[in-house]
Amino acid sequence: MTKIGIIICGRYINCGGGKCLKALKEHAGGFAKYPKDELLELVGFANCGGCPGGNIEYVPVEMIKNGVEVIHLATGLVVGYPPCPRVTQFKEYIETHFNLPVVIGTHPIPLKY
Ligand code: SF4
Repeated sequence: MTKIGIIICGRYINCGGGKCLKALKEHAGGFAKYPKDELLELVGFANCGGCPGGNIEYVPVEMIKNGVEVIHLATGLVVGYPPCPRVTQFKEYIETHFNLPVVIGTHPIPLKY
């Protein structure tokens, strides 16, 4: 089993997470990297807090309390318009400060975003 945390773009704060959760369940998109028979448990779902992403400093702590092992930055950070200019910075920050692997991407890129 792998415990997953998802951080979405604060511009999509009202998102219900449907595409991310479907992808998690189906091991699609950013979750295709996990073996099909591996259980993926969602232990955290949050947004960055809005530009410039101040929640990135805090929300991983909450996820760590729930045993998170990998944090996924949602697909919306890279396919929204404009793409998040800080996505690489977020990945490096979380990996360095919290010693957690970060994957960029959750659900497959929709045809219409
Ligand atoms: S563009 Fe980046 S910093 Fe701004 S709200 Fe979205 S994820 Fe957060």
